[in-house]
Amino acid sequence: LRGVKFRNFSIIAHVDHGKSTLADRILEHLGAMGERDKRDQTLDTLELERERGITIKSTPVRLNYTRPNGEEYVFNLIDTPGHVDFNYEVSRSLAACEGVLLLVDASQGVEAQTIVNAYLAIDSNLTIIPVVNKIDLPAADPEGAAQELEEVVGIPAEDAIFASGKTGVGVPEILEAIVERIPAPSGSAQAPLKALIFDSVYDAYQGVLLFVRVLEGKVSPKDKINLFSNGKNFEVDRVGTFSPGLVVGQSLEAGEVGWIAAGIRDIQDAQVGDTITRTDFPTDAPFPGFKPAQPVVFSGLYPTDTEDYRKMREALERLKLNDAAFSFEPETSEALGFGFRCGFLGLLHAEIIQERLEREYDLDLIATAPAVIYRITLTSGEVLTTQNPAEFPTRDRMERVEEPYIKLSVMLPEEHVGPVMQLLQERRGSMVTMNYVGKRVELIYEVPFAEILYDFHDRLKSISRGYASMDYEIIDYREGDLRKVDIYVNNDIVDALAVVVHEDKAYSLGRKIVDKMAEVIPRQMWAVPVQAAIGGKIIARATVKAYRKDVLAKCYGGDVSRKKKLLNKQKKGKARMKQIGTVEVPQEAFLAVLSTE
Ligand code: GDP
Ligand code: MG
Repeated sequence: LRGVKFRNFSIIAHVDHGKSTLADRILEHLGAMGERDKRDQTLDTLELERERGITIKSTPVRLNYTRPNGEEYVFNLIDTPGHVDFNYEVSRSLAACEGVLLLVDASQGVEAQTIVNAYLAIDSNLTIIPVVNKIDLPAADPEGAAQELEEVVGIPAEDAIFASGKTGVGVPEILEAIVERIPAPSGSAQAPLKALIFDSVYDAYQGVLLFVRVLEGKVSPKDKINLFSNGKNFEVDRVGTFSPGLVVGQSLEAGEVGWIAAGIRDIQDAQVGDTITRTDFPTDAPFPGFKPAQPVVFSGLYPTDTEDYRKMREALERLKLNDAAFSFEPETSEALGFGFRCGFLGLLHAEIIQERLEREYDLDLIATAPAVIYRITLTSGEVLTTQNPAEFPTRDRMERVEEPYIKLSVMLPEEHVGPVMQLLQERRGSMVTMNYVGKRVELIYEVPFAEILYDFHDRLKSISRGYASMDYEIIDYREGDLRKVDIYVNNDIVDALAVVVHEDKAYSLGRKIVDKMAEVIPRQMWAVPVQAAIGGKIIARATVKAYRKDVLAKCYGGDVSRKKKLLNKQKKGKARMKQIGTVEVPQEAFLAVLSTE
């Protein structure tokens, strides 16, 4: 390989265990950060990522490392997304590597995502370098954390490197371990091209940029390439590497990580996990396990101002250019008018898209409660799927309904096991296994996916005083007694407020929704009834009380600035409100089902 010695690796960890910080220290150590752009968390590029401290997109970077003995190496560091919504992208990023640094926070020990990520690495046959991080913290117990890794994942405790991304302790040892423990990439540059797409971004000038790991063969400008998933052909314009900016190169060979621009205009053609080959010298089999990332959580998004519909469509189209896992289609609601049903990988993904629409495109939105995909067999024999609760048929029309189930892994201190098991029971979960890890417990449950969409994570955190962590994957579809709960405001049914719930919970949930709505809908001149119903039968009712006094009457004749302030406050409150009939309904009301009891 032109005499260059490569090491391709990734850093994996539970969220907040210090991945981005350590990546920065490594970059700094290898002189990849000029003083000028030496800000924290270089690899987290999106503004939102920085603010929320999460990594959404994997950003690769190429680094030069000279060993103390003078030998030179080129490292490709691939940062992985740190959230369960993006686990598919994590596993594809890992497929681009030969090894990983598995970080564990020395004060927290092994958490749910530590385990899940470790197994993703093991399944990809990667070398794992265990790193116990944040050893500078007063509460650090490095030996304890290393011991837990041995117990849970089977990585010998003595292999662990103790480090701190804050002080830089352990970084030189990590760099040496990368050379010594992680194998050099194999694969021949003379073989037919086989390159794995592990990410893609849209560039206004070059079209879609494919982020690839070349497993075998070689790719250069002018080559005709072929995408395995859809059989489409493109001609390569440019190839290059990451430094971390894009650097144009001559070619990419087996073992290398880089980017390809091939005039691809539609990000749908550049699915993460797909394999690229050359049309004139094709490989016979793609990299295994390709499945396009499918949205699993759906929500209606509506502009509060109907005039913004077209602007919103343009914004969605632009966001979609960079996100093949996000979907949208027009939807109409009697209550909310024209909007879109949008599909996401999970709740975090949904929040990110909503926030970007509001921030980057200055849109004011109403989002309906998140829903999963239901598979329904009608009494007529017809089978349909729907992600819109408003379209959910009544009981008499349904033979059976199936909903997605997840395998949920929760890691928590022993003393909270009782209440957490009770919570899982309430969420219709069934236990698969329970493992002890020192003084902590790993619970594996099978749970309907919809049950964790509604406030599960918040409840888990509060029950465990913040100590429990979780991760999940969707496993299959199973039958459930599901019903649609309709919501009436001022005696009118509001389609966009409908939710689908398990029969056993319909009453308590209906109660919770109407109570919350009565609380958040602003008072009117008259009392407004809010009702929950199943198949036309009212199951819960609450009332938005009428005003006693005009807000402004309080400062009548008085202080003008106070009056102005009040008016301003009211005006601000108008944002994220929707007029339904004569009643103004705020965003919170649409998400009443999500509120923690
Ligand atoms: P990530 O979610 O794994 O990328 O974690 P980050 O790198 O964003 O770090 C999460 C938090 O831990 C941030 O507040 C960091 O400042 C802090 N942190 C990261 N590494 C260290 C470390 O080695 N020591 C200490 N004391 N804090 C750290
Ligand atoms: Mg991070």
